[in-house]
Amino acid sequence: MAIYQKAVEVLGIENQLLKTVEELAELQRAMVRFMANGGLEDEYDNLIEEIADAKIMIRQLEVILHKSDKDYNEKIEEKEIEKLLRLENIILMEEANDI
Ligand SMILES: [Mg+2]
Repeated sequence: MAIYQKAVEVLGIENQLLKTVEELAELQRAMVRFMANGGLEDEYDNLIEEIADAKIMIRQLEVILHKSDKDYNEKIEEKEIEKLLRLENIILMEEANDI
C-alpha cells in the first residue's frame, strides 16, 4: 500500500483524481472495443492493461478518501456487503425464473 500513498503525496491529490477519471474512461473504452470486436487478442491485451491501470488508480483514490474520512474502509465494506446481498437476491430470483 505504501507505493499508493507515496504516489498521492508526490504527484498530488488533484493530479491523481484526474488521472483516475482518465484511466476509468480508458477502461470503459477498452471494454467497448473488446465487446464490439468479439474479444480479439489485441483488445484482450488492452483490456488487461486498462484493468491494471484502473485498479492502481482506485487504490490511490482509496488513499485519498481515507485521508479525509477515517471510516472510509468500514463504509465501503458495509456498502459492498449490502450490494452483494442484493446481487445474491437477483441471482436467486433469476435461477427461480429458470425453473
Ligand atoms: Mg490506461
